[in-house]
Amino acid sequence: SREFHQDDSVFELGHGVKVGGKSMILIAGPCAIESEDILFEIGRAVKDSGANVLRGGAFKPRTSPYSFQGLGEEGLKILRTVGDELQMPVVTEVMDPRQVELVVEYADILQLGARNMQNFNLLKEIGSTDKPVLLKRGMSATVQDLLMSAEYVLAHGNKRVILCERGIRSFDSSTRNLLDLAMVPNSKGCSHLPIVVDPSHATGRPDLIPKMALAAVAAGADGIHIEVHSCPEKAMSDGPQALLPGQFHELAEQIRSLAGFF
Ligand code: PEP
Ligand code: MN
Repeated sequence: SREFHQDDSVFELGHGVKVGGKSMILIAGPCAIESEDILFEIGRAVKDSGANVLRGGAFKPRTSPYSFQGLGEEGLKILRTVGDELQMPVVTEVMDPRQVELVVEYADILQLGARNMQNFNLLKEIGSTDKPVLLKRGMSATVQDLLMSAEYVLAHGNKRVILCERGIRSFDSSTRNLLDLAMVPNSKGCSHLPIVVDPSHATGRPDLIPKMALAAVAAGADGIHIEVHSCPEKAMSDGPQALLPGQFHELAEQIRSLAGFF
């Protein structure tokens, strides 16, 4: 809380990338790691467009048990290889306290997904590591709930937490979730932690993602998180919300000019 920590938290994520303060992070990549070739192709494209963190899931929290669950450790190895090759810090989700030790070996940043935001054992386990954490807001969590989950990680000794707004459930099915942009200045008022906005999961719609990403920058976000795929119709997870590399390129340029303006 700002009561005990007035200044914005600023910290390193790897490969010289910083989050917080005046820095802007651009996290991009596919929903799931599918193969080394595909991840490299997408990673190369997003890096060339200005992304500075590469994402990709190896353990996927899918609604249906019959959907692709991720490549597991093989996916982690691919992510590490591609991240090293492109010199980008990598972020990937850890779903279970028993996986933390394994994921820590490969990832620079641990993602705690929306469905696990109040998995307190997982929060404690992640809080005992020395890896930065991308903590996604639960789909029916209040801002206060999110901040208390962050507090679990901090209380266990890990001070590098990035909050992530990824939309909350609403009655309106015209978007996948409802993007709560007011939470950005709202939580910044009481918390020193950096905030990233994920318009991909929030809207689920490539036609809305660019404008919502720019609105998030205007609202004071410290970073944007976008899912990108070179062939969305063949993606094994979240294809319908993926931006094409060309669309991402255009958006990244707009984000840079807007972020520079502020
Ligand atoms: C993801 O980032 O692919 C993901 C599953 O996100 P969320 O936990 O926000 O649904
Ligand atoms: Mn996804």
